[in-house]
Amino acid sequence: MENDTAMESGVDFRLTEEMKLLQQSVRDFAESEIKPHVMECDEEQKFPMEVVKKMAELGFLGATIPSELGGAGLNTTEFVIIMEEISRVDPSVGLTLAAHSGLCLQHVSMFADEAQRNRYVPDLATGRKIGSWCLTEPGSGSDSASMKAVAVLDGDVYVLNGTKTFITNGSYASTYVVMAKTDASKGNKGISAFIVEREMQGVSVGKKENKLGMRASDTVMMNFDGVRVPKRNLLGKEGEGFKQALAVLDSGRVGIAALAVGLAQGALDAAVKYAKERQAFGKTIGEFQGIQFKLADMANEIEAARLLTYRAAIAKSRGEEINLIAAQAKLFASEVAQRVATEAVQIHGGYGFIKDFPVEKFYRDVKILTIGEGTSEVQRMVIARNLLR
Ligand SMILES: Cc1cc2nc3c(=O)[nH]c(=O)nc-3n(C[C@H](O)[C@H](O)[C@H](O)COP(=O)(O)OP(=O)(O)OC[C@H]3O[C@@H](n4cnc5c(N)ncnc54)[C@H](O)[C@@H]3O)c2cc1C
Repeated sequence: MENDTAMESGVDFRLTEEMKLLQQSVRDFAESEIKPHVMECDEEQKFPMEVVKKMAELGFLGATIPSELGGAGLNTTEFVIIMEEISRVDPSVGLTLAAHSGLCLQHVSMFADEAQRNRYVPDLATGRKIGSWCLTEPGSGSDSASMKAVAVLDGDVYVLNGTKTFITNGSYASTYVVMAKTDASKGNKGISAFIVEREMQGVSVGKKENKLGMRASDTVMMNFDGVRVPKRNLLGKEGEGFKQALAVLDSGRVGIAALAVGLAQGALDAAVKYAKERQAFGKTIGEFQGIQFKLADMANEIEAARLLTYRAAIAKSRGEEINLIAAQAKLFASEVAQRVATEAVQIHGGYGFIKDFPVEKFYRDVKILTIGEGTSEVQRMVIARNLLR
């Protein structure tokens, strides 16, 4: 269980004073350190290494990891606040953080034994090393249990062969959590998870994807070609990898929901600013009821998504089962963000289609949020499964 706070001890929708301070300091950081480089990194598909290093210094990369392991010792709601404020300015940086902290580091911290924890968590939590999480393959995404990657035990090592695709942070990572089959006859119960290091022979970075959005985040193919992974790098027991991956995704989805809320807030803020400035028919467009109603609906939907996301975060901090609430928060927040980004462009008229205005980028970035860490269809499957069981 993580730190309890006033907000977490009951139905109290106020942020604590510490949370408000955190929110303001992350907002200031995002405005001063991230904003100036957003479009340059987007156009050039450039990974913002300097920004990532500064986030590491501020403790964002290991936000929820206890301080004795190099983290900031925050709770999940505080991580959600960080994710929201970063993504309000650049969702690509939010995605980098989601893959590093929400997937790779989360998987290691949830399932590592003591030796693995001491060996890998401090470097990831402090950002000395960047992490990636490797589940998806060219032929399997939603149906990830049909993966082809295999790990065969040979004495004290597993020999890992496979190709993983769409791997966030892959080019810059030193530590990978990789899911592979150790017993193909057992279906998803034959999948295991391993910690793989970049220096291990046979690990190589493949094709870098040229993307619609989130262009400052790194997305590559990863090849594992006869990699000899020491037996001590198996996470948990053989056959537990798929179950672990599903638990990690439950947790990661809270982070993606926060990313979506932040993106949507950024798009709304830009639309409100524009509505106060743009003149048409002798008035600012914000004086037209047609525009006011759009802004009101956007603000309401964002607030509902935010509350659902905070509820999921609080449940996670309390150690409750989050399979349902995390899927609900991720599904709702990502679809809200998509609608809000679309309306924000509409409010900007033609200028919304031009790269000089931030809504153009929010509109491109938002699409992955209804796809990554489980598509909207997969979230609905998870929610329905909970209803019908
Ligand atoms: C930018 C980016 C970053 C990513 N980062 C990572 C990462 O770091 N690590 C990682 O492992 N993966 C990552 N992914 C992969 C991502 O999680 C997958 O793309 C996603 O899970 C969907 O899988 P897929 O692309 O194979 O689509 P598919 O599974 O092929 O789905 C295609 C369509 O079919 C639908 N569909 C599939 N099954 C069903 C069903 N049973 N019922 C109804 N509809 C269904 C889907 O919802 C979708 O609309 C990333 C992807 C992108 C684009």
